[in-house]
Amino acid sequence: MTVVRTRIAPSPTGDPHVGTAYVALFNYCFAKQHGGQFLLRIEDTDQVRSTRESEEAILRSLRWLGLSWDEGPDVGGPHGPYRQSERSAIYRAHADELLEKGHAFRCFCDAHRLDTVRKAQIAANQTPGYDGQCRSIPAAESAARAAAGETHVVRMNVPREGVCEIDDLLRGRVEIEWIQVDMQVLLKSDGLPTYHLANVVDDHLMGITHVLRGEEWISSAPKHLLLYKYFGWEAPQLCHMPLLRNPDKSKLSKRKNPTSIVYYERMGFLPEALLNYLGMMAWSMPDEREKFNLEEMVANFDLTRVSLGGPVFDQAKLSWLNGRWIRESLTPAQFGERVAQWALNQDYLARITPLVQGRVERLSDLGAMTSFFFQGLIEVNAADLTVKGLDADGVRRALQWSSWRMEEVTPFTRDVLDRTLRETAELLGLKVKDYLRVLFVAFTGRPVATPLFETMELLGRDLCRARLRHAQVLLGLMTSKEEKKWKGELDAAVTAKAEAAAQAQAAAAATPAEG
Ligand code: GLU
Repeated sequence: MTVVRTRIAPSPTGDPHVGTAYVALFNYCFAKQHGGQFLLRIEDTDQVRSTRESEEAILRSLRWLGLSWDEGPDVGGPHGPYRQSERSAIYRAHADELLEKGHAFRCFCDAHRLDTVRKAQIAANQTPGYDGQCRSIPAAESAARAAAGETHVVRMNVPREGVCEIDDLLRGRVEIEWIQVDMQVLLKSDGLPTYHLANVVDDHLMGITHVLRGEEWISSAPKHLLLYKYFGWEAPQLCHMPLLRNPDKSKLSKRKNPTSIVYYERMGFLPEALLNYLGMMAWSMPDEREKFNLEEMVANFDLTRVSLGGPVFDQAKLSWLNGRWIRESLTPAQFGERVAQWALNQDYLARITPLVQGRVERLSDLGAMTSFFFQGLIEVNAADLTVKGLDADGVRRALQWSSWRMEEVTPFTRDVLDRTLRETAELLGLKVKDYLRVLFVAFTGRPVATPLFETMELLGRDLCRARLRHAQVLLGLMTSKEEKKWKGELDAAVTAKAEAAAQAQAAAAATPAEG
C-alpha cells in the first residue's frame, strides 16, 4: 500500500495567514491518521512578491502552533530542495518534455496583442483567454525563433471541447467545461515556471498522494489534471476545503478581521487554543466536544466529517476557547510561564524601560505609563481622534492613508516608520506634530506617550494594524466609494511629490556649481 503523503505549499508573499495554518492542520491530521508523512514546500515562483522574511515568519508561526513536518526547506529530506526557486532547472526540463510531445507550445504574442484579444472577447461576451494563435506555428519554426532569442512563454495545450471531470474527496464529481480553461502559461518569458507547472511537477516528484487545499484552487484543477495526463503520471487525490469566512460570511480577509497568526500570538492566544479552534473550522469531533488537542484530533480525524458550509472564524468564540485552555489546562506555574513568554519578560521590558526613564519619578509610575505595551486592543476615546485643521471626514481619510502607507513599511522598524509617516503628513498637507498626535491616540490611547516610532516597532505590525483599524471603526469605516476616491487621491499625491522631487533634482543639476 502506498504511504499517504500530504503537504502544505505556502507562497511566502505576506504575513503567515490563519488560512494556511487551517489547511496545514487538516493535511497534517490526514497524513498522521494514515501513518503517513506531511511535507512543507515553499512556492516562491512569484519572485517579485516572495520574501525570505515572509517565509521565515510562516515557518515560525506554524511551528509555534505546534505543527511539524517530516520534510521541508528547514529540515531537509530526500525530495529536496523544498523551495521552488531552487528547482528552476527541473521545471524547464519538464516544460521541454511537454513541448517535445506537442502538449505545450511557445507563444510569441506580446502584451499589446493579448490585451486586444482580451478586450474583443469581453466585448463579445466570451470568457477571456488566450485565442491559440501561436499553436499553429510549426515546431521547427517555433524552435528556430526561440533559438534566435525571440521573447516567448510556454503555454499548455487545452482542449476546446468537452468537460473536465474532477473527483473531489469532499465534493464528489465536479465538472468544468474545457472552454472555460485558459491555455495556461507554464513557463514565463524569463524561463521561470508559473505556479501550475511547478506545483504539479513537485507534487509528483515529492510523492504527494493527497492534495488538501483551499476551495479557491478548484478552478485550477483541470489544468493540473491535464498536466498529470500529459506527463503520464497518476494524479493525487484532490480535496478542496471550504474557505474560512468572516462572521458576515464573506471570505476571511484582513480588511475585516485580523488574519495573521502573529496577531493572535501578540494578542495572547495560546497556540494550542488557536490550533484547536482551527480544527473546529469545518470539522467536529465525533462526540462533538469542542476542546481537543492535536493528538486527539489526529486520533479521531475523519475527512468525511468535514462539512462544506463556510466555517466562520469568530474572534469571540476563539477568545472563549482560549479562556478555557488557560483555566483548564495550565497549572499556575505554567500560566506564569506563558505570560512571561508572551510579554512579561526581560527582553521586552529592556526595550520599553529606556523609553520612559527620562519621565518617571517613581518606579511605580511605570505601570500606568506603559500599560498599552501589555494590552491587545486599547480603549480609545473617539473625541480624542482629531487633527488640527481637519474635519471628521478629513480625519477618517488621514487614518486610511496611514493604514495604506503602513502596509508598505518593511521592515517594520523605527527608521522606516519615521520616514514613511513623516512623508504621509507632508502628503496630507499637515504639520507633522498635528498628524502624529492622532496616531499617538490610535496606537496608545493617549495624545502623549512613549516615542511613537519606537513604540510602534515594539508593538509590531499586527497589533498596530489592529489598533488603527479599531480607531477607524470608531469613526466609521470608509465606504467603497470613499475607498476608491481616497486611494486615487493618495496615488496622485505620491506621484505629484515624486515629480516635484525629480524636477528639483533636474533644476539643481542644471545650475552650474558655485566656485
Ligand atoms: N502556493 C499555493 C498557495 O499559496 C498552494 C496551493 C496548493 O496547495 O496547490 O496556496
